[in-house]
Amino acid sequence: MNKRIYLDHAATTKMSGQVLEYMMPYLRDEYGNPSSIYDIGSENKKALLSARKKIAEVLSCEPQNIYFTSGGTESDNWALVGTAESRAEMGKHLITTRMEHHAVLETCKYLESRGYDVTYLDVDELGMVRPEQIERALRPDTILVSIMTANNEIGTIQPIAQIGKILQGHKALFHTDAVQAFGQIPLAPKELGVDLLSASAHKFYGPKGIGFLYVGDGIRLPSFMHGGKQERGMRAGTENVAYIAGMGEAAKLAQETMQERTAQESQLRDYMIQRMEHEIPYCRLNGSRKSRLPGNVNMSFSFVDGETIVIMLDMEGICCSSGSACSAGQSSASHVLKSIHLPDDIAKGSLRFTLGDETTREDIDYAIEKIKEVIKKSRNMNPAYTAFVKRNQKQ
Ligand code: PLP
Repeated sequence: MNKRIYLDHAATTKMSGQVLEYMMPYLRDEYGNPSSIYDIGSENKKALLSARKKIAEVLSCEPQNIYFTSGGTESDNWALVGTAESRAEMGKHLITTRMEHHAVLETCKYLESRGYDVTYLDVDELGMVRPEQIERALRPDTILVSIMTANNEIGTIQPIAQIGKILQGHKALFHTDAVQAFGQIPLAPKELGVDLLSASAHKFYGPKGIGFLYVGDGIRLPSFMHGGKQERGMRAGTENVAYIAGMGEAAKLAQETMQERTAQESQLRDYMIQRMEHEIPYCRLNGSRKSRLPGNVNMSFSFVDGETIVIMLDMEGICCSSGSACSAGQSSASHVLKSIHLPDDIAKGSLRFTLGDETTREDIDYAIEKIKEVIKKSRNMNPAYTAFVKRNQKQ
């Protein structure tokens, strides 16, 4: 098989072998229903408790603050719709940013269609929202502020603790979509002043289709699913035991390896950025240099089409993305790149490379050589580029 270099860890991660091993007994032998009182049922119940505990340890919270869901999308939907429905008497105003994931933005749109009022905050050219903006947007009828911990496309990490401080003493709940941040940066919702936090196992080397919502003490959201009394009546349906067990193990591993793994990723990230900036003309880094996820490199290259480059790199065995994986296939510039005011033609030439635990320096070196090759090839086929070069030569 040809070489494959996977640089799309923000889209999803390869499940860890240790996690798979951990899940196997629950897929094979321990098939009981955790709600049953006989032995194989209670073994499954123990697996749920253990997973809840492992996740709670990562977040420095109590196991009862963790509710299992089918992933980041469900957690975001539940946090927003649940808060809106249960607090409608107190107000109908929500605050978010223009660069949230679609799981938040589309839910906001849905809420608008149900009579809620949503303020979409602008972000600056690095993708940062300033805490003062939230202070200014807060109203007596604001019931929820939803700001992502880190952006999935450009990797910018938001000042969550400062926002949490501003919200102290205001009745609005604070939700953060930490789908990209969990396992990448330390997160302690109580310390951060966060009431609701979404995460998804497939972003931290766990299985797909499973996630959780952290719900702060004393907050009760209406159930999103109607049925049995699972998850203390907050999320009906027989639990996905094997996947929950896998997520717990993945969370534990993410915590244990965080320091070393993210130090290595940050170093490779900076190396990759530096090489591209020095070796490829007409490119620019998107997002913050300082407040950035360890493995995120997002660059815009003038005179190329990002989607075309993704396909050309795929033929060289390199997997990356030209925008958010969830919005791939759309030909227009992503809403995130629009939100940081990148001109359309530059935004369309943007590529996201996200590194992971198995990425090596050799991978980056190989990828850079291929990126240089395909960008050069693509530019040389672009009449706008050749005209630009000719004009520059004349001057
Ligand atoms: N939020 C963010 C920031 C994401 O990056 C994603 C997925 O890419 C989601 C939410 C949705 O998570 P899931 O794929 O688990 O539904």
